[in-house]
Amino acid sequence: MSRVALVTGASRGIGRSIAEELAAGGHRVAVNYHSSPERAEEVVAAITEAGGTALAVGGDVGDAEAVGAMFARVGEEWGPVEVLVNNAGITRDGLLVRMAPEDWDAVLETNLRSAYLCTRAALRGMLKSRFGRIVSVTSVSGISGNPGQANYAAAKAGLIGFTKSIAKEVGSRGITANAVAPGFIETDMTAGLGDDVRTAASAGIAVGRFGTPREVASVVGYLASEAASYVTGQVIVVDGGLAI
Ligand code: NAP
Repeated sequence: MSRVALVTGASRGIGRSIAEELAAGGHRVAVNYHSSPERAEEVVAAITEAGGTALAVGGDVGDAEAVGAMFARVGEEWGPVEVLVNNAGITRDGLLVRMAPEDWDAVLETNLRSAYLCTRAALRGMLKSRFGRIVSVTSVSGISGNPGQANYAAAKAGLIGFTKSIAKEVGSRGITANAVAPGFIETDMTAGLGDDVRTAASAGIAVGRFGTPREVASVVGYLASEAASYVTGQVIVVDGGLAI
């Protein structure tokens, strides 16, 4: 069934693949971006070329006003959002003793406050139509912790508690809330890792390599589908066997 979907941070990486996956499944997809309008338009063009329907919508997902405007825009165009993917995320890594308050706040705002703002905005329509799929992209860092990522791990662990709470709040209304927790995935976020770090990391991954954005997107596609109606409050780890 064709639904209205919104994917935050869909101009690149995992978000782009999720947008393409949902569009291939017949959904109309709002492609959110913050600082990369051209790349978001490229995603829209790729989806359109493949026969799908997409719309680029700018906005900083940590900003309440911008989120309000983004949902209003999608609502005017297509109606209420029925599938929300909270994917936008940033890192500002550093050991805690040297971590500046701005780096803590920026990561919490973009990775966690964003999910609160977007989910709250989406829930109004979902509650009315008694259908909704909310999928948040967390991380294995939020489950196991990671030195140098106290801010990121705290935000990602927060997303897990958030997801489980929402699942309990709205489960009886046909709305599910789940999270996916990727391990190392080939995107801009991991592009800066040196060869030595890559080799060491891959050695700890059962399948022996980093994952692709598509390998995360296919799991999100399932959780966003009608078929996943009895799966809620779950965290699906997509890490090639890193955290077994
Ligand atoms: P990426 O390639 O760095 O892309 C990040 C995306 O988030 C971009 O589309 C960016 O949009 C968007 N974004 C950043 N700040 C934003 C804001 N304030 N408002 C709206 N959009 C914003 O990252 P990725 O690797 O695909 O990561 C996607 C998600 O997966 C993140 O939540 C990340 O934490 C999580 N994750 C990634 C990995 C990995 O190994 N890559 C592992 C675990 C979890 P603009 O370019 O338009 O600013």
